[in-house]
Amino acid sequence: MKVAFVASEVVPFAKTGGLADVAGSLPKEISNLGHDVKVFMPKYYSVDEYKFDLKYLDTVGEMQIRVGGIPRPVHVQKGFLPDSNTEVYFIDYSFHFHRHQIYTNDHDEDERFILFSKAVIELFQRLGWAPDIVNCNDWQTGLIPYYLKENYSWDRMFDKTASVFTIHNIGYQGRFSKETLDNGEIDHKYFYPGGPVEFHDSVSFLKTGIEFSELINTVSETYAAELLTHEYSAGMHDVLLSRENDFLGILNGVDYSIWNPKTDKYLPHHYDENDLSGKLLNKKFLLQHVGLPFDENKPLIGIISRLAIQKGFDIISAAIDDLMELDAQWVILGSGEPKYEHLFRSMAYMHPNQTAVYIGYNNELAHLIEAGADILLMPSHYEPCGLNQIYSLKYGTVPVVRKTGGLADTVHDWNEFNELGLDTGNGYSFYEYSGAALINSVKRAINDFKNKPVWKKIQTNGMAKDYSWKRSAEKYVDMYKHAIEKRRV
Ligand code: ADP
Repeated sequence: MKVAFVASEVVPFAKTGGLADVAGSLPKEISNLGHDVKVFMPKYYSVDEYKFDLKYLDTVGEMQIRVGGIPRPVHVQKGFLPDSNTEVYFIDYSFHFHRHQIYTNDHDEDERFILFSKAVIELFQRLGWAPDIVNCNDWQTGLIPYYLKENYSWDRMFDKTASVFTIHNIGYQGRFSKETLDNGEIDHKYFYPGGPVEFHDSVSFLKTGIEFSELINTVSETYAAELLTHEYSAGMHDVLLSRENDFLGILNGVDYSIWNPKTDKYLPHHYDENDLSGKLLNKKFLLQHVGLPFDENKPLIGIISRLAIQKGFDIISAAIDDLMELDAQWVILGSGEPKYEHLFRSMAYMHPNQTAVYIGYNNELAHLIEAGADILLMPSHYEPCGLNQIYSLKYGTVPVVRKTGGLADTVHDWNEFNELGLDTGNGYSFYEYSGAALINSVKRAINDFKNKPVWKKIQTNGMAKDYSWKRSAEKYVDMYKHAIEKRRV
């Protein structure tokens, strides 16, 4: 099977969130299953072409890609996903992609991704490579399924090409004014109230992707179910309900070559489920590193997150005084909304022996917290998949989460399962989105932490679980096969 994986960010070249992690791992796993996978992304200013040894594709040369009626000269560079033969093609047009950020609020944001989408299709033509599947990801790629069925349908090489559209976060919908129709050469006949490219009087690239793809998926089963509801869909539930039979959830995997306490290159002490002694040493190291006193019997609660409301920081704020009264220590790593940065800075100032806060992005510290903390707190309002809680499970760091999206699919409440006579729980979860429910769960965790055999059972339940990409990649391949069948009928 020939698979084009198209994404606006791919690890290690450019990243703002979980999409980049998926795009950097999943294509490799699908290749390992014996398929021909190529990755396509924009060549941003921040992509280091020397470090990654990218080469211009002279065989392709300059492509003239029309946006808003004007042809734009586009070049293509090629590299590989690290430690693999998976090719990555970079669409290079500096006027659009050499900006300070990957995503902008500039007036031509629509044109940037119109150009990208068309260039990817014209590159398929130049390469003479007809994909069986184009796996598009998020709104930036939402026009590709449309273009394949409309603007480029004259080209018989795409007769059998099926599109799959993967939603990583419904909150970003790529909505633009009606002028975008002309910029993108999108047929006005599709723009009417409720029409396939129209969403509340705007052109939505996300909706277009959903409407013109053979199949649609998202990154966990629970998030897929939630997206069919008013509460979680940011208005898209009717659109998705109309495609309900073609919509599924596949949980993301994680990369255990990077996130494994047995081999993690950032940890001073390695450990696994058979011998957790290294975890305690990491806790000691971490506490010293962040300037907090070590107390083996006091649970250390970690937070590693974008400081955004999506991640539950409003209920943490609501509960902050009560949380500080608990007999626990805190280490918090994150950056984002200034009000939450301020909240945590003042928390550290007022409770210097109890709380350490690092505002910023720090990958090494993220690894140290995963290993050194006893509990990871992730009370998200919504969470399409979530990676940190999956890392935590592997690191024997017991997650306390809100039961939503991928958190609900990976964290199983200890008490709930215990009451059922099963000792398979691996964390704590609560449903009601409130400070009170959050505190209740944190208290339950702190309480069980004192009971060493119980705590060890919860930790090892989590560590035994395998969330590597292989299983998810097999599900993607099944989905692709199904999409190809649908395209043929
Ligand atoms: P999202 O993609 O919504 O931000 P995920 O849990 O899916 O949330 O992925 C977050 C990723 O970013 C994880 O790999 C996490 O370790 C990392 N991360 C988040 N904030 C920071 C930070 N401040 N410093 C280092 N790594 C971070």
